[in-house]
Amino acid sequence: MQNPNKTANSKSHFLPMGIFLIFVLSITIVFFICVLRDIEKNARSTIVSNIEHQSQNFQNIINQHFQYIEGVAAYIGQQEELTCEQNLELLTAMSEKSTMNRMVIIDTDGTGFYPDGSKRFVGSNKFFQKAMSGERAFSEPLESNIDGDLCIVLAAPIFRDGEVVGVLGGSCNLSTLSDMLLVDNYSGSGTIMIVDSDGTVIAHVTDERMSQLITYEANFFNQLYNIKLPKDKPRNTVLEDFANQNKELFSLTYRKQKYYMAYQPLEISNWMLCYMVPRSVARSSYDFISRYGIVLCTALILGMSALLLTVLLSTNRTQKELLEMGQSDLLTGMLNKKSTEEMIQQWLDSEQKIGLQAFVMIDIDHFKEVNDTYGHAVGDEILREVSNIIRQEFRENDIIGRLGGDEFCILMKNIVSDTNAIAKVRKLHESIRTFNFKDIGEGNHVTCSIGVSFAPMYGNSFNDLYHTADLALYETKKGGRDGFNIYDGKKH
Ligand code: GH3
Ligand code: MG
Repeated sequence: MQNPNKTANSKSHFLPMGIFLIFVLSITIVFFICVLRDIEKNARSTIVSNIEHQSQNFQNIINQHFQYIEGVAAYIGQQEELTCEQNLELLTAMSEKSTMNRMVIIDTDGTGFYPDGSKRFVGSNKFFQKAMSGERAFSEPLESNIDGDLCIVLAAPIFRDGEVVGVLGGSCNLSTLSDMLLVDNYSGSGTIMIVDSDGTVIAHVTDERMSQLITYEANFFNQLYNIKLPKDKPRNTVLEDFANQNKELFSLTYRKQKYYMAYQPLEISNWMLCYMVPRSVARSSYDFISRYGIVLCTALILGMSALLLTVLLSTNRTQKELLEMGQSDLLTGMLNKKSTEEMIQQWLDSEQKIGLQAFVMIDIDHFKEVNDTYGHAVGDEILREVSNIIRQEFRENDIIGRLGGDEFCILMKNIVSDTNAIAKVRKLHESIRTFNFKDIGEGNHVTCSIGVSFAPMYGNSFNDLYHTADLALYETKKGGRDGFNIYDGKKH
């Protein structure tokens, strides 16, 4: 049966629960967005501080090398002749003991004197000209004429009486320069490199994944074609950054893995220090926050679902109980008069109804006397026991109700024949009259009078069947009670 109140009640519970659920979910989502944003911010700032630390460290090492060269240059400058044997021997000792694998004294005319006695003109190199002007200078990466390896020359002026009388140079292999980098590339993942403004890789520490991308041989600017740069940071803007010595930090994709790329000027020559760190690795130290977040969210969602389910179930249960209470007779648990009438009428109107239906009315004989003799409470108990007997005698799907007082009715659905129904009624009558009601003492019995009518012969509505069955019942009462009568169509 449709109960409009039920839908309305469910809706009234759904609305606040739904609003609360949306509220909790929104808070969780906002919380997650904030957490992710903070993780991103922290991961980026860690890279920035690492790169600054790296830059400082590298500058210090290079500075120490220059101080060393300048110290030796000051000593060399004191000798009458720059390329005297004593000076050249000193160079040999320096090559053996320092990270600089080849030393050279360069005359003011650009002739380089090597400790092995060889000479070479290096005067056209920029680093020589800069050093001759009295400043520290770096060369571009040059191919060594000893082993063919790429190297950088660190050059310092040789002063005598405040005048530049030559240049002292020391060359470092690029791999030696790379060794000067701090290996802070996130437990071996990603790349740290020094690149000059032409894209030449001067030093690098590279993980396996990037080993093909970042090499001394390949120009870094060309390798950018193999990297998926963000839309707002195309290759030409990266080149501009390197040319203008700009700092930057952005995300990119290489071989389907996301990386942070960060670079900043090294303040040595025009070199840029550059980091490429896998995003997952850079964020890994914050993974625990996401894990806690997931646990929190799962707990919240499960908790909310459990709460929702509990409220829904209890609402449904209460509604069902209320509905059943409204439909049933409180004393016997049978359908009350109103719902008996509704259900019988519904059945009579339905298409499931096929053929014969029997309407049976039962009224206990002299029940007032029972009440008077044994008390009202015993009367109630007898009503309950009679209702149990009726329930046992009929099928589950027959409609059984208490119409009020000591009056019950049954609609036997789709019966095979009237004799079949009459046999059942007889049996019911017998069961009640022979039942030992424990409160009235053994040997004392309760009898009932029954009237039966049939649909469709004597009506197709509850009222018609009730009226005709009542007439038959009246006949039974009139005939001395304790029996049953079938309505025969005659008006009485
Ligand atoms: P009859 O043989 O003609 O049916 O006589 P009766 O005494 O049974 O009279 P009737 O059926 O007209 O009245 C039913 C009586 O049942 C009236 C009332 O005292 C009693 N009764 C009605 N409801 C209850 C109830 O809930 N509990 C109890 N104990 N008695 C009830
Ligand atoms: Mg009665």
